[in-house]
Amino acid sequence: MQVVRSAQELKNAKKNLSGTVGFVPTMGALHDGHISLIKRARQENDIVIVSIFVNPTQFLEGEDLDKYPRRDEADKKICELAGVDILFMPTIDSMYNQDELKISAPKVRGYILEGAKRPGHFDGVLQVVLKLLNITTPTRAYFGKKDAQQLALITQMAKDYFLDTEIVPCEIVRDSDGLALSSRNVYLSEDERKRALSLSRSLKLASDMVAKGELNCKKIKGQMRQELLKNVDKLDYVAIVNREFKEIDKVEIGNSIILAAAFVGTTRLIDNIWL
Ligand code: AMP
Repeated sequence: MQVVRSAQELKNAKKNLSGTVGFVPTMGALHDGHISLIKRARQENDIVIVSIFVNPTQFLEGEDLDKYPRRDEADKKICELAGVDILFMPTIDSMYNQDELKISAPKVRGYILEGAKRPGHFDGVLQVVLKLLNITTPTRAYFGKKDAQQLALITQMAKDYFLDTEIVPCEIVRDSDGLALSSRNVYLSEDERKRALSLSRSLKLASDMVAKGELNCKKIKGQMRQELLKNVDKLDYVAIVNREFKEIDKVEIGNSIILAAAFVGTTRLIDNIWL
């Protein structure tokens, strides 16, 4: 595995390799969710590139940029074991210029739900993902459904900007108790971790209601809110959208995503289920 630190180094490293390229962008502190993306990329491509970059432009003022977990040495070992060919760990200076041209998230889909709670977040996400896709020029890029709105916006960017990369959605990996894996889970105390389980529990409750024939989104969201409000410290939102990310009144089986976002302690968690 080659570890490279700038776009130029990555382009040089790629020159010696041929075949299809699978790319997995991450912010590091790798867990089994990331590893599932890397394994899928390994199965489906000749070359696998992983990036680890804690992108400052997607963090808002007052968010956890400074304390975001960094585990570079452990992450390198994980990538090596997972058969990664090139690990791209760029410096901030090599990625950004002063007063550079910016890409903006779409005014509607980019500014609801996560975008409403974290205005500007998706501008930063799309900016860095576009850079990373241009540097790595992958055949396929792998993204988790855990960040459902991010996945929808990146898929839209690939379409709107005629990118040559297939955006591959990947299933959410959970701990045995149901908690969706996240690099931020390390922030949780024992008590907070227990209370954090109310996110996946509320989504299970919702899918059980749907399985019993309840399609009314208002009723489903009401039940979810009850479960969440007993446990979390601040509920950001509960929402039911279609795969186009438009809020819906009635669950459409095969075309719906149910989402929740909440603070447990000072940790902000998101989770969702695709029905
Ligand atoms: P991050 O390092 O949090 O930016 O995540 C990098 C990629 O891993 C994103 O595409 C995430 O959606 C994906 N990811 C994060 N957590 C999970 C999970 N529990 N299951 C599947 N994919 C995940």
